[in-house]
Amino acid sequence: MPAEFDFVDWLGRQQPTSPHVAVGVGDDLAVLRWDAGDLLLVGADQVLDGVHFDSAVHPPRLIGRKVMNRNLSDCAAMGCLPAAAVCTAALPKGTGLDYAKQLHLGMRDAADAFDCPIVGGDTASWSPSTGGRLHLSVTILARSAGIEPVLRGGARPGDGIYVTGPLGGSILGRHLTFTPRVREGRVLAKSSRVTAMIDLSDGLSRDLRHICQRSGVGALILGEQVPLHDDVRRLPPDSRSLLEHALHDGEDHELLLTAPAGLDQLADVPLWPVGMITQGPELLLKAGGKTLPLPARGWEHPL
Ligand SMILES: [Mg+2]
Repeated sequence: MPAEFDFVDWLGRQQPTSPHVAVGVGDDLAVLRWDAGDLLLVGADQVLDGVHFDSAVHPPRLIGRKVMNRNLSDCAAMGCLPAAAVCTAALPKGTGLDYAKQLHLGMRDAADAFDCPIVGGDTASWSPSTGGRLHLSVTILARSAGIEPVLRGGARPGDGIYVTGPLGGSILGRHLTFTPRVREGRVLAKSSRVTAMIDLSDGLSRDLRHICQRSGVGALILGEQVPLHDDVRRLPPDSRSLLEHALHDGEDHELLLTAPAGLDQLADVPLWPVGMITQGPELLLKAGGKTLPLPARGWEHPL
């Protein structure tokens, strides 16, 4: 039966080279080179079987891709460049070496697209009979590389609110296959005109709240301007309107940002204006001729 160290040996042969990696997989810690003046940004994100994916339905390569892309999307939200990642996997016993390799190759599909080497991590297994399910976690390290990271707290009354693409219906598959907006986030940050930014993981209604709370402002969303993804129209009909799906579904992983009002693009990044920042503190939605409080119905993990 293959075991952890067969997988680790295979991993050690998978490493692309990077000018930032002095020692990669194979020692107790990886060793990175860091340019003087670069800020180090660090974050972590995980995916759980039955919450973020369904291992009975979704192929391992897409599960691996998703966990890495969630982390890369956070780099995009700060306008920073991915530099390296470390990953942990808790595998149900009996998963098998081929499945573990597919998880890793999915992570590599995502990371290689942004020259982000996977430099270490840990693999363990646990018994499904005692509840052990597939769990993946990634810690990402990123470089500021000559910009000021864009924070959530800089939105000002009068700023426009923008998204980088249409929203809603990600459950049809985009939550596994999205491309993180690393390039766009970088270009936007370099423009120095973005006052706050976040990636849309929990849904516009909830992620906008994060910007408003950190910035001490309110917001008015113009429902007719919110771009609907084609997936919204392909969803089986339910009690929610198309706009509600776009506002609350989450896992779009487009960028939500604030910047001077009246833009339709910034540098070469197309932007969809969806509203404006107000003195606040309330978040409002104008739709169908009415202006009402914008409920925060996006995803939140119950504790
Ligand atoms: Mg985020």
